[in-house]
Amino acid sequence: MITQHPKPLAHQPQHEVVKYQEQKLQELLAYLSQNSPFYKDLFAAHQIDINQVKTLDDLRLIPTTTKEDLQKRNDDFLCVDKGRIIEYSSTSGTLGSPVTIALTEIDLERLAYNEYNSFTCADGSAADLYQLMLTLDRQFMAGMAYYSGIRKIGAGIIRLGPGVPSLQWETILRLKPTAIVAVPSFILKLIYFAQEHDIDINTSSVKKAVCIGENIRNTDFSLNILGQKITEAWDIRLYSTYASTEMQTAFTECGEGRGGHHQPELLIVEVLDEHNNPVAPGESGEVTITTLGVEGMPLLRYKTGDICHYFDEPCGCGRTSIRLSSIVGRKKQMIKFKGTTLYPPALFDLLNGMEEIKDFVAEVYSNEIGMDEVLLHLLPVNYTDECDRKIRANLQARLRVSPHITYLKHDEMQKLQFPEAVRKPVKFIDKRK
Ligand SMILES: [Zn+2]
Repeated sequence: MITQHPKPLAHQPQHEVVKYQEQKLQELLAYLSQNSPFYKDLFAAHQIDINQVKTLDDLRLIPTTTKEDLQKRNDDFLCVDKGRIIEYSSTSGTLGSPVTIALTEIDLERLAYNEYNSFTCADGSAADLYQLMLTLDRQFMAGMAYYSGIRKIGAGIIRLGPGVPSLQWETILRLKPTAIVAVPSFILKLIYFAQEHDIDINTSSVKKAVCIGENIRNTDFSLNILGQKITEAWDIRLYSTYASTEMQTAFTECGEGRGGHHQPELLIVEVLDEHNNPVAPGESGEVTITTLGVEGMPLLRYKTGDICHYFDEPCGCGRTSIRLSSIVGRKKQMIKFKGTTLYPPALFDLLNGMEEIKDFVAEVYSNEIGMDEVLLHLLPVNYTDECDRKIRANLQARLRVSPHITYLKHDEMQKLQFPEAVRKPVKFIDKRK
């Protein structure tokens, strides 16, 4: 089931892609109907004759799979004997109970190939040295994926782990990496640290950053506030990457910086509205994926919960595959806030743009009548009544409603963002029922 190509399908004409994907789809359906307890039940319950599903359009004959399905019947998605599993990865569990995704040797090879393509797409080569500012344990699939993908490219790796700006800089100055892989808000912390300690960041060896976990662009590809703040201070090129544990595949930007490229040999992608109909390019829809080449836990029409836009015109880099915008929001995290609708990334962008605020966590909870309320935990640069007044006025003007605000000290913020066993800093807490 390995699907490696001498030349990635992303560069090939659309008809080649469709031909390849339709062939792989039929193999997948046959495989699932033989080996997947969940999909065997699904096909039986909906009287689906897999032989009737031949084209990509025919996919709509099959019901979608949801995160709840994976949470409730996690083990029933496994298609191989447990003895063949090598890695047990898991989702972060920020949206409900965590899901285990088990990978076989073939899946690990596929994962490495996926990141080989991703890092190549992000202008990576054997000449690069990457400093990984993220965890490689805690069942975090991405860390392992980056590591194996970079190895496949033949580039160098420094596994430094997350946090500790002083150690990151000491290592950058000593080993001279050309690239970093990090959460964008942490890159900003690196910049602040350098400024406070007289490190001249623009003469450092780092020339590019692969940005994980947070948006650096608006949906029209322009840099958002976070992306602007980074590049204004530090002359490096930013590449955004979007992935999830369930899809075992990344969408990574090329040097054009116009959305994350789809890898057609690894996924079939649909972008669907609430009624599971495809949306047009440039419209908001939920990213829905079908994995190709996955052996352990393949997924068919899995709704990721991530709302994106997609673009289908060929890219300046020569790739013809579709590109996904940065995430508008996670469907479950939509906040209905006193008559307006808000997704956390838009709120984060607003908070990142306020110079009075050094760091933040946004919390949403249900009030006594079941409506969403927002509580912002803020670390002010320098708390004064004047600063408080400015922050409240700015939020009121931009959101048209006033969220609740509580000011924290540095160590309180640290505690809130890094409770035990998290892999990334917490920026959003959902306490709704
Ligand atoms: Zn491109």
